[in-house]
Amino acid sequence: MTVKADTRLRRLPERGSKDLQLAHGIIDESRICHVGFTLDRQPYVVPMALGRDGDHILLHGSVVSRLMTNLADGLPCCVTITHLDGLVLARSAFNSSMNYRSLMVFGTATLVDDEAEKLRGLDMLVEHLAPGRLADLRPSTRKELNATTLLTLPLEIFSIKSRSGPPGDAKRDLNAPIWAGVIPLALTAGNPVPAPDMPADVTLPGYLKRLS
Ligand SMILES: Cc1cc2nc3c(=O)[nH]c(=O)nc-3n(C[C@H](O)[C@H](O)[C@H](O)COP(=O)(O)OP(=O)(O)OC[C@H]3O[C@@H](n4cnc5c(N)ncnc54)[C@H](O)[C@@H]3O)c2cc1C
Repeated sequence: MTVKADTRLRRLPERGSKDLQLAHGIIDESRICHVGFTLDRQPYVVPMALGRDGDHILLHGSVVSRLMTNLADGLPCCVTITHLDGLVLARSAFNSSMNYRSLMVFGTATLVDDEAEKLRGLDMLVEHLAPGRLADLRPSTRKELNATTLLTLPLEIFSIKSRSGPPGDAKRDLNAPIWAGVIPLALTAGNPVPAPDMPADVTLPGYLKRLS
Protein backbone atom coordinates (compact mmCIF):
# COMPACT_ATOMS: atom_id res chain seq x y z
CA MET A 1 0.00 0.00 0.00
CA THR A 2 1.38 3.48 -0.84
CA VAL A 3 1.92 5.83 2.03
CA LYS A 4 0.35 9.25 1.48
CA ALA A 5 1.14 10.92 4.78
CA ASP A 6 0.76 14.67 5.10
CA THR A 7 3.73 15.85 7.17
CA ARG A 8 3.03 19.59 6.88
CA LEU A 9 2.67 21.26 10.27
CA ARG A 10 -0.21 23.70 10.13
CA ARG A 11 -0.10 25.10 13.68
CA LEU A 12 3.21 26.68 14.74
CA PRO A 13 5.24 25.40 11.74
CA GLU A 14 8.31 27.19 13.15
CA ARG A 15 8.48 24.37 15.70
CA GLY A 16 8.95 21.83 12.94
CA SER A 17 12.07 20.18 11.57
CA LYS A 18 13.06 17.51 9.07
CA ASP A 19 16.57 17.10 10.47
CA LEU A 20 17.58 13.44 10.28
CA GLN A 21 20.21 13.76 13.04
CA LEU A 22 17.61 15.28 15.34
CA ALA A 23 15.31 12.34 14.50
CA HIS A 24 18.12 9.92 15.41
CA GLY A 25 18.59 11.69 18.74
CA ILE A 26 14.87 11.52 19.59
CA ILE A 27 14.83 7.78 18.82
CA ASP A 28 18.08 7.03 20.65
CA GLU A 29 16.87 8.69 23.83
CA SER A 30 13.59 6.79 23.82
CA ARG A 31 12.77 3.33 25.13
CA ILE A 32 9.23 3.36 23.78
CA CYS A 33 7.25 4.47 20.79
CA HIS A 34 3.57 4.34 19.87
CA VAL A 35 2.64 2.55 16.66
CA GLY A 36 -0.57 3.68 15.00
CA PHE A 37 -2.39 1.78 12.27
CA THR A 38 -5.93 1.32 11.00
CA LEU A 39 -7.70 -2.01 10.63
CA ASP A 40 -11.26 -2.26 9.32
CA ARG A 41 -11.58 1.52 9.65
CA GLN A 42 -10.72 1.35 13.37
CA PRO A 43 -7.51 3.17 14.42
CA TYR A 44 -5.26 1.52 17.03
CA VAL A 45 -2.20 3.01 18.76
CA VAL A 46 0.05 0.42 20.40
CA PRO A 47 2.98 1.19 22.73
CA MET A 48 6.14 -0.75 21.87
CA ALA A 49 9.86 -0.94 22.53
CA LEU A 50 12.10 0.22 19.71
CA GLY A 51 15.64 0.33 18.42
CA ARG A 52 17.49 2.08 15.60
CA ASP A 53 19.63 0.67 12.84
CA GLY A 54 21.03 3.64 10.91
CA ASP A 55 18.10 5.32 9.19
CA HIS A 56 15.61 2.63 10.21
CA ILE A 57 13.45 2.12 13.28
CA LEU A 58 13.46 -1.47 14.58
CA LEU A 59 10.30 -3.02 16.00
CA HIS A 60 9.96 -6.53 17.36
CA GLY A 61 7.10 -8.65 18.64
CA SER A 62 5.46 -12.03 18.71
CA VAL A 63 4.98 -13.81 15.38
CA VAL A 64 1.30 -14.16 16.27
CA SER A 65 0.80 -10.48 17.14
CA ARG A 66 -1.94 -8.86 15.06
CA LEU A 67 0.12 -5.69 14.84
CA MET A 68 3.27 -7.44 13.65
CA THR A 69 1.58 -9.68 11.09
CA ASN A 70 -0.36 -6.78 9.57
CA LEU A 71 2.67 -4.49 9.45
CA ALA A 72 4.74 -7.29 7.91
CA ASP A 73 2.01 -7.60 5.25
CA GLY A 74 2.52 -3.95 4.31
CA LEU A 75 -0.15 -2.15 6.35
CA PRO A 76 0.91 1.54 6.55
CA CYS A 77 1.74 2.75 10.03
CA CYS A 78 2.74 5.84 11.94
CA VAL A 79 5.33 5.57 14.71
CA THR A 80 5.33 8.42 17.23
CA ILE A 81 7.93 9.16 19.89
CA THR A 82 7.49 11.92 22.45
CA HIS A 83 9.85 13.34 25.05
CA LEU A 84 8.08 15.56 27.54
CA ASP A 85 10.74 18.02 28.72
CA GLY A 86 8.73 20.33 30.91
CA LEU A 87 5.47 21.93 31.98
CA VAL A 88 5.33 25.50 30.71
CA LEU A 89 3.27 27.43 33.23
CA ALA A 90 2.09 30.73 31.88
CA ARG A 91 -0.03 33.35 33.69
CA SER A 92 -3.06 32.18 31.71
CA ALA A 93 -4.38 28.74 30.85
CA PHE A 94 -4.41 29.71 27.18
CA ASN A 95 -0.67 30.43 27.01
CA SER A 96 0.35 27.47 29.17
CA SER A 97 2.13 24.79 27.21
CA MET A 98 4.66 22.00 27.31
CA ASN A 99 8.30 21.70 26.30
CA TYR A 100 8.82 18.63 24.18
CA ARG A 101 10.48 16.91 21.26
CA SER A 102 8.26 14.67 19.17
CA LEU A 103 8.81 12.62 16.06
CA MET A 104 6.26 11.06 13.73
CA VAL A 105 7.45 8.51 11.16
CA PHE A 106 5.16 7.25 8.41
CA GLY A 107 5.61 4.30 6.10
CA THR A 108 5.39 0.59 5.62
CA ALA A 109 7.62 -1.73 7.57
CA THR A 110 9.69 -4.56 6.12
CA LEU A 111 9.99 -8.02 7.63
CA VAL A 112 13.59 -9.01 8.37
CA ASP A 113 13.74 -12.68 7.44
CA ASP A 114 17.45 -13.08 6.78
CA GLU A 115 18.65 -14.95 9.88
CA ALA A 116 21.91 -13.05 10.41
CA GLU A 117 20.19 -9.68 9.88
CA LYS A 118 17.41 -10.64 12.26
CA LEU A 119 19.92 -11.60 14.97
CA ARG A 120 21.84 -8.38 14.44
CA GLY A 121 18.64 -6.30 14.64
CA LEU A 122 17.40 -8.03 17.78
CA ASP A 123 20.82 -7.51 19.39
CA MET A 124 20.60 -3.81 18.51
CA LEU A 125 17.20 -3.64 20.19
CA VAL A 126 18.64 -5.15 23.39
CA GLU A 127 21.51 -2.67 23.34
CA HIS A 128 19.14 0.22 22.67
CA LEU A 129 17.11 -0.59 25.78
CA ALA A 130 20.03 -1.35 28.14
CA PRO A 131 23.46 -0.54 26.61
CA GLY A 132 26.01 -3.17 27.64
CA ARG A 133 23.41 -5.85 28.40
CA LEU A 134 24.04 -8.02 25.36
CA ALA A 135 27.43 -9.23 26.55
CA ASP A 136 25.82 -10.67 29.70
CA LEU A 137 22.91 -12.52 28.08
CA ARG A 138 22.90 -16.10 26.86
CA PRO A 139 22.28 -16.39 23.10
CA SER A 140 18.60 -16.66 22.15
CA THR A 141 17.45 -20.17 21.29
CA ARG A 142 16.12 -21.07 17.86
CA LYS A 143 12.66 -21.46 19.39
CA GLU A 144 12.85 -17.93 20.85
CA LEU A 145 14.03 -16.50 17.54
CA ASN A 146 11.28 -18.33 15.63
CA ALA A 147 8.71 -16.86 18.01
CA THR A 148 9.89 -13.31 17.30
CA THR A 149 9.22 -11.05 14.32
CA LEU A 150 11.58 -8.19 13.50
CA LEU A 151 10.46 -5.27 11.34
CA THR A 152 12.31 -2.21 10.06
CA LEU A 153 10.69 1.09 9.19
CA PRO A 154 12.69 3.61 7.12
CA LEU A 155 13.18 7.14 8.38
CA GLU A 156 12.09 8.61 5.06
CA ILE A 157 8.71 10.26 5.63
CA PHE A 158 8.83 11.95 9.00
CA SER A 159 8.19 15.16 10.87
CA ILE A 160 9.63 16.59 14.08
CA LYS A 161 8.04 19.15 16.32
CA SER A 162 9.67 20.64 19.40
CA ARG A 163 9.22 23.44 21.90
CA SER A 164 11.68 24.76 24.46
CA GLY A 165 12.01 27.84 26.62
CA PRO A 166 9.85 29.94 28.92
CA PRO A 167 6.14 30.70 28.63
CA GLY A 168 5.02 33.17 25.99
CA ASP A 169 2.60 35.26 28.00
CA ALA A 170 0.46 38.05 26.68
CA LYS A 171 1.89 41.50 27.54
CA ARG A 172 -1.14 42.40 29.61
CA ASP A 173 -0.51 39.39 31.93
CA LEU A 174 3.18 40.02 32.65
CA ASN A 175 2.69 42.01 35.87
CA ALA A 176 0.19 39.56 37.37
CA PRO A 177 1.31 38.26 40.81
CA ILE A 178 1.42 34.67 39.59
CA TRP A 179 4.47 32.38 39.45
CA ALA A 180 5.28 31.60 35.84
CA GLY A 181 8.03 29.48 34.35
CA VAL A 182 8.97 25.94 33.48
CA ILE A 183 8.89 22.79 35.60
CA PRO A 184 11.44 20.53 33.86
CA LEU A 185 10.40 16.92 33.50
CA ALA A 186 12.56 13.94 32.58
CA LEU A 187 12.35 10.18 32.63
CA THR A 188 15.03 8.93 35.01
CA ALA A 189 16.05 5.45 36.13
CA GLY A 190 15.57 4.62 39.80
CA ASN A 191 17.56 2.34 42.10
CA PRO A 192 17.88 -1.21 40.69
CA VAL A 193 15.65 -3.79 42.40
CA PRO A 194 17.32 -7.25 42.32
CA ALA A 195 15.18 -10.21 41.23
CA PRO A 196 14.15 -12.14 44.35
CA ASP A 197 15.30 -15.45 42.81
CA MET A 198 18.82 -14.28 41.82
CA PRO A 199 21.85 -16.05 43.42
CA ALA A 200 23.11 -13.89 46.29
CA ASP A 201 26.65 -13.52 44.92
CA VAL A 202 25.61 -11.86 41.65
CA THR A 203 26.51 -8.17 41.75
CA LEU A 204 25.20 -5.23 39.76
CA PRO A 205 27.33 -4.75 36.61
CA GLY A 206 28.90 -1.39 35.82
CA TYR A 207 26.74 -0.73 32.75
CA LEU A 208 23.59 -0.99 34.92
CA LYS A 209 25.10 1.25 37.60
CA ARG A 210 25.64 3.83 34.88
CA LEU A 211 22.06 3.39 33.61
CA SER A 212 20.56 4.00 37.02
C1 LIG B 1 3.65 16.54 24.62
C2 LIG B 1 2.76 17.25 23.62
C3 LIG B 1 1.57 17.77 24.03
C4 LIG B 1 0.74 18.42 23.12
N1 LIG B 1 -0.48 18.87 23.55
C5 LIG B 1 -1.34 19.40 22.65
C6 LIG B 1 -2.67 19.77 23.04
O1 LIG B 1 -3.09 19.58 24.19
N2 LIG B 1 -3.48 20.33 22.10
C7 LIG B 1 -3.06 20.51 20.80
O2 LIG B 1 -3.84 20.99 19.97
N3 LIG B 1 -1.83 20.16 20.40
C8 LIG B 1 -0.97 19.62 21.29
N4 LIG B 1 0.29 19.23 20.90
C9 LIG B 1 0.66 19.50 19.50
C10 LIG B 1 0.13 18.38 18.63
O3 LIG B 1 1.02 17.28 18.73
C11 LIG B 1 0.01 18.79 17.17
O4 LIG B 1 1.24 19.28 16.70
C12 LIG B 1 -1.07 19.80 16.89
O5 LIG B 1 -2.24 19.59 17.62
C13 LIG B 1 -1.54 19.61 15.46
O6 LIG B 1 -1.04 20.60 14.69
P1 LIG B 1 -1.44 20.78 13.16
O7 LIG B 1 -2.91 21.04 13.01
O8 LIG B 1 -0.48 21.78 12.67
O9 LIG B 1 -1.04 19.43 12.50
P2 LIG B 1 -1.90 18.26 11.84
O10 LIG B 1 -2.62 18.76 10.64
O11 LIG B 1 -2.67 17.54 12.89
O12 LIG B 1 -0.70 17.34 11.38
C14 LIG B 1 -0.06 17.49 10.11
C15 LIG B 1 1.25 16.79 10.16
O13 LIG B 1 2.16 17.54 10.98
C16 LIG B 1 3.04 16.64 11.64
N5 LIG B 1 2.89 16.82 13.08
C17 LIG B 1 1.85 17.35 13.75
N6 LIG B 1 2.07 17.35 15.07
C18 LIG B 1 3.29 16.79 15.25
C19 LIG B 1 4.06 16.52 16.38
N7 LIG B 1 3.67 16.83 17.64
N8 LIG B 1 5.27 15.93 16.21
C20 LIG B 1 5.72 15.61 14.98
N9 LIG B 1 5.02 15.86 13.86
C21 LIG B 1 3.81 16.45 13.99
C22 LIG B 1 2.64 15.25 11.23
O14 LIG B 1 3.46 14.83 10.15
C23 LIG B 1 1.22 15.42 10.79
O15 LIG B 1 0.80 14.43 9.89
C24 LIG B 1 1.14 18.58 21.77
C25 LIG B 1 2.37 18.05 21.37
C26 LIG B 1 3.17 17.38 22.27
C27 LIG B 1 4.44 16.78 21.78
